Amino acid sequence: MNVLRMPRSVYEAIRAHGEETYPNECCGALLGRPTAEGWQVASSVRAGNTRTDSAHNRYQIAPVELVKIQREARRDGLDIAGFYHSHPDHPAQWSTTDFAEAHWLGCSYVITEVAHGKAVVSNSFFLEGANEEEKRFEPEPIHVDD
Ligand SMILES: [Zn+2]
Repeated sequence: MNVLRMPRSVYEAIRAHGEETYPNECCGALLGRPTAEGWQVASSVRAGNTRTDSAHNRYQIAPVELVKIQREARRDGLDIAGFYHSHPDHPAQWSTTDFAEAHWLGCSYVITEVAHGKAVVSNSFFLEGANEEEKRFEPEPIHVDD
């Protein structure tokens, strides 16, 4: 089983992002390094939510923005460790849409429930599987380092 590790500053930043965009979803990327037991996150990058049709329950990072994030990560010796988004007034569990739109095998997907504008629960799901047909979300604990 994997563990997602991140500094408290990153944990607080991604939760604060969800409070700022409430009642809409926020989204962004997590940058880090792979370890034997999961990702060690070093930083997070905010992304604009490009879904204008239904920003309160859908999120998407524009491909061009993703390429830019990836390039900057490489320059710092980091990889894309995963992605995060918020669920305004919904539990921190992945939706069928979240699963359908998750394509980064081996990455962690963090979801934060923002209830009445306050970040509550954050959960992480590791996208397991060798290919798109076999993919599945495995819950993984988030370890916050002080
Ligand atoms: Zn979602």
